[in-house]
Amino acid sequence: MKQSLILTILVTLTSFQRASAIPFQVRADLDSCLNSAGLTSIYPSSSGYASAAQAYNLRFQYSPAALVYPTSENAVAAAVKCAGSLNVPVSARSGGHSYAAYGLGGQDGALVVDLSKLKAITINSDQTATIQTGNRLGDVALTLYNNGGRAMPHGTSPEVGVGGHLGCGGFGLDSRMWGLFLDQALSARVVLSNGTIVAASPSENSDLFWAIRGAAPSFGIVTEYKFKTYPAPSSNIIFSYSYWSTPQATASSIFSAFQTFAQTSAPPTLGIQAILASAGAPGQLYVSLTGVFYGTKSDFNNAINPLLTKIPKPQGTSVVTYGWLDSLVQLGGQSLNTSTTPDGTDTFFAKSLMVPQEAPMTSAAIQSFFNYLGNQGTSSDTVSLTTLYSMHCEP
Ligand SMILES: Cc1cc2nc3c(=O)[nH]c(=O)nc-3n(C[C@H](O)[C@H](O)[C@H](O)COP(=O)(O)OP(=O)(O)OC[C@H]3O[C@@H](n4cnc5c(N)ncnc54)[C@H](O)[C@@H]3O)c2cc1C
Repeated sequence: MKQSLILTILVTLTSFQRASAIPFQVRADLDSCLNSAGLTSIYPSSSGYASAAQAYNLRFQYSPAALVYPTSENAVAAAVKCAGSLNVPVSARSGGHSYAAYGLGGQDGALVVDLSKLKAITINSDQTATIQTGNRLGDVALTLYNNGGRAMPHGTSPEVGVGGHLGCGGFGLDSRMWGLFLDQALSARVVLSNGTIVAASPSENSDLFWAIRGAAPSFGIVTEYKFKTYPAPSSNIIFSYSYWSTPQATASSIFSAFQTFAQTSAPPTLGIQAILASAGAPGQLYVSLTGVFYGTKSDFNNAINPLLTKIPKPQGTSVVTYGWLDSLVQLGGQSLNTSTTPDGTDTFFAKSLMVPQEAPMTSAAIQSFFNYLGNQGTSSDTVSLTTLYSMHCEP
């Protein structure tokens, strides 16, 4: 499997507001069309509008023309037809965790088709799973495991939605072993922009099937996917090797060793990331090499040893074995059942840089990056996450 490194840099910034933009008559016609189609909708004048239209990332605040909550694939199609007939932009919202509020349309005046009422999950006799796109990752993991000990690769946050996660990638610490979330899709059902409903798979509308696995928001609203699943590993070792405060030159050498390890000896059963941050004082950095090994303790020791022999003794070490669901709870930091936890929010700016395996970061680039993090980084709330074979997806 090809590997890449990615840097995701999160910086806290302030929020900003945008004004609403949809002509009065278009809004009235849209309301009327949605009502005639029997769709439950929330309008700007509705009492629940402000919370329904709140973005996960509070830097973004858009004003949708309306939000609809279809309970069937046909109802999704009816909503899309209403918007299409009035030239109102449409945006699907699955888990609402887009970094830049694209689930709200990424602009004012969109019709948001909220999929949260499409939550069916069927485990099929051939161990595939048919999952509607209103589901969140935590609930999918729970249902798969509780119905036959099955699992699939995906990101760590239980609240992220199936629709957005698959629509543009979906990386988890188990992705070096099983692939991205989108690699698991066997077929899909899609509502196109003219409101027609089609099936997509390698043998039916294959070009659409190719396109939705990476750019779904540009091609339609996927209402359900059929997925491959895997037997959940019984031994999941969550580890971290941390340096609370280390000179930036040492941090650079740790990172170089991490990168070489990624290229040469890390097995697919090892998901690992480097978390880098300012340690508060100029020239001092926090570094943590952390992840999951899927297998036995002795296999883990053999797998991690080539890295440990190349880095200084960590200031903190933790190695704990979990069952599958407990490992997901540890990684996600919350319950997997999202119906019992209120949606969180955050305020951040994120930027990603991909580093291909054939052209890893040079030592000059590593030193320059660490110099920046150890100096300018001390005056801002900056964290860098570097993951083997990673992708944080956005349209
Ligand atoms: C706290 C947090 C943790 C994360 N962790 C990871 C991680 O570990 N790994 C990783 O790879 N990514 C991660 N992400 C990124 C996440 O996968 C993407 O932001 C993803 O797009 C969110 O999906 P969503 O359904 O929750 O978001 P939404 O805002 O609902 O949707 C995101 C985009 O997909 C479109 N969309 C949603 N549903 C559909 C559909 N059914 N058909 C077509 N288009 C659709 C929306 O219109 C929007 O453009 C994380 C994000 C957050 C906020």
